[in-house]
Amino acid sequence: MNSWIDIPKNSDFSIYNLPFGIFSTNKNSKRVGVAIGNNIIDLLASNKLDIFKDLNINNNVFENNFLNDFINLGKNKTNKVREIIQQQLTDESSKIKMSTDVIIPMNEAEMHLPVKVGDYTDFYSSIEHATNIGSMFRDPSNPLLPNWRHLPVGYHGRASSIIVSGIDIFRPQGQVMPIDSDKPVFTSSKRIDFELEMGYIIGKNSSLGSSITTDDADNYIFGKVLFNDWSARDIQKWEYVPLGPFLGKSFASSISPWVVTIEALDNFRVAGPIQNPEVLDYLKFNGLKNYDINLSVSILPEKTNIVTIVCKSNFKYMYWNMSQQIAHHTINGCNLNVGDIMASGTISGKSKDSYGSMLELSWGGKKNIELNDGSSRTFIEDYDSVIMRGYCEKDNIRVGFGEVKSKLLPSI
Ligand code: MN
Repeated sequence: MNSWIDIPKNSDFSIYNLPFGIFSTNKNSKRVGVAIGNNIIDLLASNKLDIFKDLNINNNVFENNFLNDFINLGKNKTNKVREIIQQQLTDESSKIKMSTDVIIPMNEAEMHLPVKVGDYTDFYSSIEHATNIGSMFRDPSNPLLPNWRHLPVGYHGRASSIIVSGIDIFRPQGQVMPIDSDKPVFTSSKRIDFELEMGYIIGKNSSLGSSITTDDADNYIFGKVLFNDWSARDIQKWEYVPLGPFLGKSFASSISPWVVTIEALDNFRVAGPIQNPEVLDYLKFNGLKNYDINLSVSILPEKTNIVTIVCKSNFKYMYWNMSQQIAHHTINGCNLNVGDIMASGTISGKSKDSYGSMLELSWGGKKNIELNDGSSRTFIEDYDSVIMRGYCEKDNIRVGFGEVKSKLLPSI
């Protein structure tokens, strides 16, 4: 497919991608846009050209603070919108090409949180990550808890503190238990960490009391984003027994602004790891449910402005796939809503440079990670930005996620 619009080689936002997001400019309020190369297609302005007229979509759906109303139109319509934009961008005489106010350069736009997040669930679905954590904190010869290979372990996270790329966060304070002490202290966390994850946005409501099968689960996934599940390891360690993570996680999670549709990722499906022992019937699935998505994490210290990639991983390593997560999440009758975010859990691979958190890379703070500016890290320091990137590539077709970047500021 060739487009008349300039798309830099290696752009994440190729003609095959066309992700959705919420943007604003100096002139215009928040609205739905589609990324293409270094530009944004304004869907409100596009709708006014009548290019979606058979779909009969109200302007309010596009002139909106969030994608929720758009997603709520259903995949029949949202996929059609993507197809029409694709046609318009390949047709030399299209209405979009002839218009003057539809194409906005990305550098003139501000990106916003794409969805109003209802609920946020975080899984723990990478076997390499769970094995590393289990080896460090429990027993290296028996690192996985007995349930781990039988169900996708997860917990309900905090939705209100999910923020978009570009928003700085503050080092959280809280209770920690010092080593060799018998009482906790109140302090700034000394062990701020990222978790390299991918999130997916629920695209369809399900009803209370019903469950979603693995075969039907794809119909409930609108699209995916990069997800940095910020963690305060020292707070987490003291608080998490017996109900799981709380304040050590809830201070912030950062996501990338462009939602890549599950349809745009279809060509990059691959088989996942063999699951052994065999899972219960409701977790069995057909077809290719993993995705080959290259992921990386970089640290950028503010003082030197020299970036270092500290982790290269891949979403294909996930032991539990999204369909299984959705089937499990709803097997008890729990309902899902448009705009809910599910996150994968930290995505680690087998090699030491593919671990998706500083906790693993520094092996519990025991090993220094050398940065290109000559400094070293065991955890994230004040004024460090953490940048995550992700892309798929096959047969010279690239579909990428852009980045999620946020800077850690000192405690208030
Ligand atoms: Mn997490």
